[in-house]
Amino acid sequence: MLSQKMQAAFNEQIRNEIASGYLYLAMSAYLESQNFGGAAHWMREQYKEELDHAAKLFKHVTDRSGRVVLEAIEKPPVEFGSLKEVFQAVLAHEQKVTGLINKLYETALAEKDYPAQIELQWFIKEQVEEEKTVEDILAQIEACDGKPHLLLMIDHHLGKRGQ
Ligand code: MG
Repeated sequence: MLSQKMQAAFNEQIRNEIASGYLYLAMSAYLESQNFGGAAHWMREQYKEELDHAAKLFKHVTDRSGRVVLEAIEKPPVEFGSLKEVFQAVLAHEQKVTGLINKLYETALAEKDYPAQIELQWFIKEQVEEEKTVEDILAQIEACDGKPHLLLMIDHHLGKRGQ
């Protein structure tokens, strides 16, 4: 059985994961408007991944007879700037999420909630992967030095995610 404190903390993280997905979907819409169809596809894959994260936490709460309560989600931004700025925003967001996951893990430690700790270890590892992936993309974008034909090659490559 989940403690009230852990249940509330998990519900908050379910919200955070869905909010992340919502942000990436907004970025996808923006990138489509900027004719970066590949990066837009990449963001939709990222959006789906965030919903999977939320579903994983949802299952953990309900498997332990907890009650999932969905919290409010803010409207995401509409404009995101250059391709580089979009991915800088993704990296900053993922770094923020890493902090939230770590905080949740600390709560699980304080609550002596061992199943939650094991569940959250997957998320801790996943955040390492998320940050690395985006750092790699950013390094590639920076190497383009704003040259449009090189950026289009990156866009093409991003369009292959999940294939
Ligand atoms: Mg996530």
